[in-house]
Amino acid sequence: MNIPQSQSIADGFTDTSINKIYDVIIVGAGPIGLATAVGLRKRGIDNILVIDQTRAFRQVGQVVDLLPNGLKALKYLDERAYQAVKTASLTFTNYQPSEEEKTTAVIEPKLPKPSLEWASKNFQGQKIRAIPLSFDVWFSEYGEGRVSISWYNLQSALRQLLPEDQVKPNHRCINVVDEPELGCIRIDCVSSASVEANPYAYWSDQQNNHDTQSQNSDSAPQPSLTKSFRAKLIVAADGINSTVRKILYADSSNLAFATPEYSGFAAISCREIPDIPQEVRSHIEEKFLAGSPIITVANYDLSNRAFSETPRMLLMNRQSMGYLLHVAVPLESVSGKSGSDLHNLGLQELEKAGFPQVLQELVELSPPENILQRPYYIHRAAIDETILPSWSAGRVVLVGDAAHGMPPFMAQGANQGLEDAMIMTTLITNIAQENHWDNQQAIASAFDKYERLRRPFMEYIQQATLTQFPNSSNQAWQEYSNKVYSRNFEEITSELLV
Ligand SMILES: Cc1cc2nc3c(=O)[nH]c(=O)nc-3n(C[C@H](O)[C@H](O)[C@H](O)COP(=O)(O)OP(=O)(O)OC[C@H]3O[C@@H](n4cnc5c(N)ncnc54)[C@H](O)[C@@H]3O)c2cc1C
Repeated sequence: MNIPQSQSIADGFTDTSINKIYDVIIVGAGPIGLATAVGLRKRGIDNILVIDQTRAFRQVGQVVDLLPNGLKALKYLDERAYQAVKTASLTFTNYQPSEEEKTTAVIEPKLPKPSLEWASKNFQGQKIRAIPLSFDVWFSEYGEGRVSISWYNLQSALRQLLPEDQVKPNHRCINVVDEPELGCIRIDCVSSASVEANPYAYWSDQQNNHDTQSQNSDSAPQPSLTKSFRAKLIVAADGINSTVRKILYADSSNLAFATPEYSGFAAISCREIPDIPQEVRSHIEEKFLAGSPIITVANYDLSNRAFSETPRMLLMNRQSMGYLLHVAVPLESVSGKSGSDLHNLGLQELEKAGFPQVLQELVELSPPENILQRPYYIHRAAIDETILPSWSAGRVVLVGDAAHGMPPFMAQGANQGLEDAMIMTTLITNIAQENHWDNQQAIASAFDKYERLRRPFMEYIQQATLTQFPNSSNQAWQEYSNKVYSRNFEEITSELLV
């Protein structure tokens, strides 16, 4: 993989003083870029800059579950970040301890309410297993808890721990250039009304863009400014549609892996179904929901492979009843589709899989105009045993979704990204302590360690996501959970320092 070498500053770019060379520039102020920045500052590396293409930070994005491995990594990065995220999470925001709990909490850990769980049920409505939703239950099992938090609140909680002038919105990285004569990398940024759309991270009904992730849909155009920055290292955390990845992979044997691949899976969702007849509602409530705000229904009697190919329905009953279907379908059947096409596709898939009649009726009742689709994309950690798309080149390294974005079925995207941030922060701290900023070999060896540690684990997580092997039995579920959530990161990171 190559980074283009500098010829001259591109026309029209305002070059920042070449005397100003940051130690680290992080491209992307999503959760992983910000967590990396927080972790670096905590270790005394504060000559850093985070840039993001968003015009302004504002409320966008889905809810993300942070599980014990992600929270352990966050705590390792900075205890303050861990506390801030916990406080901003949905798990803790609405929780008001009773007077009795306030007085007993110190002596006795709070016991979770029995209904605080997310059950997986088969077509007969029998519970196959249940994931506790309570922080404390996870904490007692895996040594760390679990929280749900909106993407924006996660971003805000981390951003607020950084000085305002170190996080620059309105800077879209469009170019990465090696400047060996200066011993650094230059990135060129624009801020313009024509921010590139991200086709890999949208909810869409194709008629009006229900994009929940993009922060770039402001209609007010702004003048296009261009600016360049330099750094010893670039950490690219610019998400699944990473520009930096495309630049690194251009003109290389990795070209085919520059943009994400369709994973084979998509979501079809309808969050609000008005006018559900009482008998349908009661039937679903009694047989499936049984008082829970969310459950998953699927055919748990199938073998792994067949299970991953069969639809899974997340049934939600909050302000109103709704669903999210995960289906294995060709890209053409969802991409660009809306309304009745999605409605029919959802119904066909449920019928083919023999879903209970009452759940088919629920989908039948969903107004086509409320139905959204989202194809899921992936950057495979390994294409096969011999093709392993590299996550770094020279002074540039990919982390988070830019390296290994994937569908959210095991709720691990952000959690794995936080593990990347933990490892990367430790390795960069090493480089700083040894003053190896100009030692290309030390940098290459650090990035090599990162890949050797993280890639095999990502292969495992992506395999679990795509094949759903942890769902094959309670034992498989338990093994997967122990392997992912119980690791001791202090041990792993101390090995990196050797
Ligand atoms: C429906 C859904 C549910 C999910 N649920 C979970 C879950 O429960 N648990 C979990 O762990 N994960 C979950 N995920 C995955 C999780 O959201 C991602 O893995 C996580 O957000 C990745 O973080 P990131 O910082 O790497 O990238 P992103 O969150 O994509 O952030 C990238 C940032 O880079 C910026 N950027 C992009 N291009 C440029 C550029 N050229 N220049 C400058 N800035 C740029 C973007 O504006 C953005 O701020 C879910 C994802 C989806 C879609």
